[in-house]
Amino acid sequence: MKRLGLYVHFPFCKNKCAYCDFYSVVGHNNIDKYIDALMLQCEDYSASCEPYAVDTVFLGGGTPTIVPEKDMLQLIDCIYEHFHVTVDAEVTMEANPATVNLSQLKKYHKAGINRLSIGVQSACDAELRALSRIHTYGEFEKTYKQARKAGFDNINLDLMYGIPEQTLDSFKDTLEKIVALDPEHISLYNLKIEDSTPFGAIRDSLPLPDEDVEFEMYEYAIDYLTRHGYIQYEISNFAKPGYECKHNMKYWTCQEYLGLGTAAHSYFRNTRFSFIKDIDSFVSAIEDPDNSDVITDENYSISPAERVGEYIMLSLRLKSGINTAEFNRLFGMDFDAMYEDLLPAYVENGFMDKTAAGYAFTPKGMYVSNYILSSMLEFSSEIDKNIANGKDK
Ligand code: SF4
Repeated sequence: MKRLGLYVHFPFCKNKCAYCDFYSVVGHNNIDKYIDALMLQCEDYSASCEPYAVDTVFLGGGTPTIVPEKDMLQLIDCIYEHFHVTVDAEVTMEANPATVNLSQLKKYHKAGINRLSIGVQSACDAELRALSRIHTYGEFEKTYKQARKAGFDNINLDLMYGIPEQTLDSFKDTLEKIVALDPEHISLYNLKIEDSTPFGAIRDSLPLPDEDVEFEMYEYAIDYLTRHGYIQYEISNFAKPGYECKHNMKYWTCQEYLGLGTAAHSYFRNTRFSFIKDIDSFVSAIEDPDNSDVITDENYSISPAERVGEYIMLSLRLKSGINTAEFNRLFGMDFDAMYEDLLPAYVENGFMDKTAAGYAFTPKGMYVSNYILSSMLEFSSEIDKNIANGKDK
């Protein structure tokens, strides 16, 4: 049976964090209607997913843990009913501290959720306030302990660096406190200021750490987490051996996934598509089959040229880097020749390592990977065009 990852989006939050540009809405009144729409979508997709074994499920948001317990349990049952979820599937729910209690966590665990991803971001309350998070570090700790008590033995904690007023010392303190809790997985993201967010509007007056300090934080985290038994397997992700996030690995290794719900993205049967970013329009399109043509935002098959670009971009996100022999075999091209003017300089300047299989970013390269990847993809655009026109194959 083919393998599939299933993502379900819950676009609700208690408060909008100042940096967040994910699609989520505060104070929505009809969560139950949205859950009904999701259940209809599960039903709709069950036939096309018949040949697939679903080995990862990710309930993300937004804040899934503000969905009323009864609705959430119904939806989880519905997923198990309509898809072939494997017995050893990784089933993750994102949770915000202080939005879920012990009794709910026990029920979700019993219903089949076996991995929890908690957004803590920092152990410093002033930094949490600066981000407009709704919880304190103490509240997070309580949620974490409850999760352990409820039986969760696979927990991810999301952390952030580059927060306003954050210092190298306060970041070190956060890492120390988080590692002392012994989570199986840690995601560490650099705060990016997006134009569409409240932070975007005051970008120039934000007291952000300077870039050198941010890089020191990142480098320190790689060293500290490695010394404490976490393996960095992706630019922003660290795990104890065997606890790498299987669902996210699907995104980075170009495997198929189906995203249900408003704003959810899919790569399914060689097509990429996403659903509209509007809860009410999404619900009415699901309820009324006459509106079903307005439900997708994007819908396109992936051209060979795009596949090359994605493969390069996603493989290099991984610590293992790109396997050039595999690349050459898959695309009938020579990776070294394509980048003969760029790669030696990246290696010489300490941004990339030449590995046994190909190339991988060093910590310094990972920190600026967005810039490097965009120049690599720009550089290969001509070749991509040739592939698209069938000239190189
Ligand atoms: S809780 Fe998460 S999804 Fe909601 S606003 Fe904050 S960062 Fe965004």
